[in-house]
Amino acid sequence: MTKNTRGTLMRPDTLPESASRPVITPLSPSVVYASDTPDMLDAQYEGALQGYTYSREGHPNADVVGRMIDRMEGAPQPGIVTSSGMSAVSAVLMGLLSTGDHVIGGNQLYGRSLRMMKEDLPRLGIATSLVDAGDVGKVAEVIRPETKLILIEVVSNPTLRVADIKGLAKLAADRNILLAVDNTFTTPRAFKPFDNGAHIVIHSVTKLLAGHSDVMLGYVAARSGELADRLRVFAITAGLTPSPFDCWLSERGMLSFDLRFDRAQETAMRLADHLAGLEGVARVIYPSRDDHPDRARAADLLGKRFCNMVSFELQGGREAANAFTRAAVGLAFAPTLGDVGTTLSHPASSSHRALSPAERQALGISEGFFRVSVGLEDPDTLYRVFADAVSAAQH
Ligand SMILES: *Cc1c(COP(=O)(O)O)cnc(C)c1O
Repeated sequence: MTKNTRGTLMRPDTLPESASRPVITPLSPSVVYASDTPDMLDAQYEGALQGYTYSREGHPNADVVGRMIDRMEGAPQPGIVTSSGMSAVSAVLMGLLSTGDHVIGGNQLYGRSLRMMKEDLPRLGIATSLVDAGDVGKVAEVIRPETKLILIEVVSNPTLRVADIKGLAKLAADRNILLAVDNTFTTPRAFKPFDNGAHIVIHSVTKLLAGHSDVMLGYVAARSGELADRLRVFAITAGLTPSPFDCWLSERGMLSFDLRFDRAQETAMRLADHLAGLEGVARVIYPSRDDHPDRARAADLLGKRFCNMVSFELQGGREAANAFTRAAVGLAFAPTLGDVGTTLSHPASSSHRALSPAERQALGISEGFFRVSVGLEDPDTLYRVFADAVSAAQH
């Protein structure tokens, strides 16, 4: 390690000598970075010298994670790491839009993104329209002269419908509108939005990328340097900065991301077929299955890797749903996704509880509907636990 030549009176002014370097990224919780002279600090602010100043403006652990995700996404400009997926969504919607603008969102976006569209943006004088991201015609219909941005997810939650990204990218390009894609479910392992016309890519790193349900982190990157700058400045001003420790944990999680994703999505695909063969299961949703309405589009956009999410509907309504979660021992009934362990979510009692029964019915979300985020368990053990719990729910 290099000798720290200018310490403080309070702290040690040298670090232990070492001719060798640590193999893993050091955790750097320092909020402030000391400069030698005002001239050097000036040069850093001007960008003539690379250096950290104050950690809200950037720190090594965020940059390490940011460059990892940049490479995975093929980001044309360095992305920004934020304190959560929602802070990345906030940076896009609040950092890029102004009063009088109009924004279009997919009508099956993540719950909090929907809420921001419905409650917060209108309060700031930004008009919003929510439409089916699988129907380019419907999206085109709601475009206005002041429409600035379209925000979509590739695979919707929890019904796993696939957005018409190619159609939307063409529409956005023709009409000079920004296309922002939240790639949390599909991840760059299955889909690369920048290669498919997106101007902005968003992640909840909390989910599959970090993968262990022990950090909250977000990421946003833009195609152009101008957009990337605006996002970065807004994130710094609004204080969306991530904690170094969360970045450090996420880096560790991301080292195994490709392996985890491939294994989980392979098991998910098989689990979908197993579930479809069980008595008591009314319906199974997985984008590669023959009965999925967007099968062709999923194959076109995602190739051979779909996602680790499977949704299914139990016969017997809420009563069967309660019996199922009680019997599904070892599977966490918890509102997250992308963990190393399989988790179950019940949209009618959680993510979609604010909708009326009629609205839920229109989306196909009944009281027996579950979304499964498949983890890394032994597949045969997992299939058996599901078969036993589905059977228990029918008695
Ligand atoms: C979880 C999630 C978010 C929000 O991310 P947080 O890290 O929980 O703030 C945004 N979009 C999608 C698709 C998500 O699943």
